[in-house]
Amino acid sequence: MDLMEYQAKELFAKHGVATTLGVVVETAEAARAAAEEIGGVTVIKAQVKAGGRGKAGGVKLAKTADEAFEHASNILGMEIKGLTVNRVLVTPATPPEEEYYFSFLLDRSNRSYLCIASVEGGVEIEEVAKTNPDAVRQIPINALEGVTAEKAAFIVDDAKFPAELRDQAIEMVQKLWEVFVEEDATLVEVNPLARLAGDKLEALDGKVSLDDNASEVRHEDHEAFEIREEADPLEAKAKDLGLNYVKLDGEIGIIGNGAGLVMSTLDVVAYAGENHGGVKPANFLDIGGGANAQVMANGLDVILNDPQVKSVFVNVFGGITACDEVANGIKGALEILGDAASKPLVVRLDGNNVDLGRAILNELNHPLVTVVATMDGAADKAAELANA
Ligand code: GDP
Ligand code: MN
Repeated sequence: MDLMEYQAKELFAKHGVATTLGVVVETAEAARAAAEEIGGVTVIKAQVKAGGRGKAGGVKLAKTADEAFEHASNILGMEIKGLTVNRVLVTPATPPEEEYYFSFLLDRSNRSYLCIASVEGGVEIEEVAKTNPDAVRQIPINALEGVTAEKAAFIVDDAKFPAELRDQAIEMVQKLWEVFVEEDATLVEVNPLARLAGDKLEALDGKVSLDDNASEVRHEDHEAFEIREEADPLEAKAKDLGLNYVKLDGEIGIIGNGAGLVMSTLDVVAYAGENHGGVKPANFLDIGGGANAQVMANGLDVILNDPQVKSVFVNVFGGITACDEVANGIKGALEILGDAASKPLVVRLDGNNVDLGRAILNELNHPLVTVVATMDGAADKAAELANA
């Protein structure tokens, strides 16, 4: 789960990272009241799960409460990278004297953790990384050793933080590592990490991604960060049904059993789509091992409710759950769904009891169901139907 800036800052504050929380509001009127309450110059910041808000006009300084009202009216409802702004953060506008960049992240390609730090932070950090990559330091973190005081000092010195900020920076780096580890995050990013008047270091922005697998069992409090109305409705529904579903952008719904099989199905379908007008997979959905009728019905229900979906590819390799059980699951799912099942299904069954499974589907002789023997053949058929 990705957090909004104000939520990231709440976690920062919890772990003693210097930041200013401000007030989150959903109307321009409330922004005016918040600005009045805070007093002085404020900054009005769009709260969406996307970077580049500053460049998109989603971060504005307000000298007066009326100006705060005006900016909030413009920012609320604005679209940033396809996301609608439903709330803004109002904080005291503490002008940064310098802007640094700091992050910890899970570095999947190196199976490690990585720290990225630069004293040339701010909204142009991507540009700095291109034109002056030496200024953006990348420091691997050994997961077992973590970030000790020595390691934090190494990071701060390597990134060339100013000497007068060294002790503060070392402490902040250790606290940010504490956020990363104790909250089970996969990303903790601060940009800008600002140098304020009086040589004070403060996190003026925050981006945190939490590991959902850890959140469910180790952090009940993380549930409070979920903003229901911001979630994709299909993903929210799938989550309620306990399904392992990720919405993608194509036309072919995918159901499979086993994450590896579903991943390879996505590849095969994308490849097949090249011969059929460029149609693509519409989702990832792994219904796991015990795919009974109800689970199959739940999966189909979510996928068929995606208006982009034109056809569905059910790709099952029978193992412990044999093909005849899966075939009965599909049969039962079609009965449960009734008229809600309205799009063609291409089914490929293989593995344990495949003959029995195919016989059940052949006997069913459902007008929407096409049984195809091979994975490539089924992918091609599903792509053809999606493009029809
Ligand atoms: P992003 O563009 O989505 O990363 O949003 P940021 O929160 O990083 O804001 C973009 C820029 O706005 C920052 O680099 C700062 O220059 C400026 N900014 C952000 N927060 C504050 C603040 O509290 N006070 C002032 N004066 N400027 C800010
Ligand atoms: Mn930022």
